[in-house]
Amino acid sequence: MENNLIIDARDLTKTYQMGVVAVQALRGVDLKVEAGEFLAIMGSSGSGKSTLMNLLGCLDSPSEGNYYLHDQDVSQLSDTQLAHVRNKEIGFVFQMFNLLPRTTALANVEVPLLYSGVGAGERRQRALRALEEVGLKHRAYHYPNELSGGQCQRIGIARSLVLNPRLIICDEPVSSLDVSIQAQIINLLEDLQEEFNLTYLFIAHDLSVVRHISDRIAVMYLGKIVELTT
Ligand code: ADP
Ligand code: MG
Repeated sequence: MENNLIIDARDLTKTYQMGVVAVQALRGVDLKVEAGEFLAIMGSSGSGKSTLMNLLGCLDSPSEGNYYLHDQDVSQLSDTQLAHVRNKEIGFVFQMFNLLPRTTALANVEVPLLYSGVGAGERRQRALRALEEVGLKHRAYHYPNELSGGQCQRIGIARSLVLNPRLIICDEPVSSLDVSIQAQIINLLEDLQEEFNLTYLFIAHDLSVVRHISDRIAVMYLGKIVELTT
């Protein structure tokens, strides 16, 4: 099964230097994740969840340790190389959606394509298809302030999918939504997982929201994974 691994992180540490003070945000994290898995990550504020996601999402490099993404050691890459891997492999869904406010749903979904140099015609076509995947094609020309929180998160999900990544990193994607809407978004993520064989790393605030779709749950405490349950 080893060749089915998408993530193989070994002894990752991350230290932030704040003037003379060194903050040890990660203190030796080992983690293997198989393709198609849904891994929930929990832990109190400051336990290192976001730092770990930044490293696994190729937004930042570890201070020490190795990170193999599809067998490629990405822990030593330059920022430019890391950005290239990120565009190709990873999608992000955020708690506050992070949409551009004066920009239509369609144009928001086009942003990653724009950064990847995809031409206007193809951009529009692919963004429309991604909006269709999340059930929002009919809102393509609406602005975020005309849409509900759940709809905005669907746009965020369409944007995360538009470059066809295999790994999706979600940082509390439903924490700011009504409980009734949370389930819809989780169901959508589940459907998309089946359709595209996606792997999810999902930072969760509330276990009850993700328990039924998680293959494993990792609990972080003071920069370490202290519990990993199936
Ligand atoms: P969580 O997401 O679980 O709340 P974080 O990964 O954001 O935890 O933070 C872990 C620790 O690292 C905290 O002590 C936090 O203050 C510190 N930290 C996070 N990011 C930075 C940064 N950019 N500079 C300095 N310290 C940071
Ligand atoms: Mg965080």
